[in-house]
Amino acid sequence: MNSGHLEVVTGTMFSGKTDELLRRLRRVRIGGQPFIIFKPTVDTRSGKNRIKSYDGSELEAHDVSVTRPKDILTILAREERKLGIPFKVIAIDEVQFFPRESAIRQVITALVSDKSRRVIAAGLDRDFRGEPFGAMPDLLAIADEITKLTAVCKLCGSHQACFPQRLINGKPASYRSPQILVGSDESYEARCRNCFVLPGKPKV
Ligand SMILES: [Zn+2]
Repeated sequence: MNSGHLEVVTGTMFSGKTDELLRRLRRVRIGGQPFIIFKPTVDTRSGKNRIKSYDGSELEAHDVSVTRPKDILTILAREERKLGIPFKVIAIDEVQFFPRESAIRQVITALVSDKSRRVIAAGLDRDFRGEPFGAMPDLLAIADEITKLTAVCKLCGSHQACFPQRLINGKPASYRSPQILVGSDESYEARCRNCFVLPGKPKV
């Protein structure tokens, strides 16, 4: 590979984004290339220092605070010193949790400016309101390659579910509930555009 390369894997919940990330990393491993994984600390689903897909497979990951994405560069340099060679592949899961105003876009731009590096970033494109999530719109704009996955709609069975329906006590959550509620009592299901419900959404 002659230039740095950014791949973004996006889509709604239950669309298999982390599975796709893990699949690409398994290929890298079979190819004998070293890789490193980062994830924001706000993601409590996977537990500390690992990423986990819904089918149970998992890999070690380095936790980074959502307000300190530049730590990715520091940790990378430290791990490369330990390993003695550069990481050719850098994966970042749940990348939408880095806020748009954080330096995540600049960090990723710096990573892919190194000719030999491949960066794979995975994360949600839409939040529970169906609106663009965190830094994802910026990352889609600078990506060299985008894979957008859909899920199966929990209500009608359509294969084009692209919205994360948030439920609180089994009922669709209000537009006014906060964007990030990881680890609390709410649940999510994938829904298509027709079945997605958002009480309290202001009219355009
Ligand atoms: Zn549906």
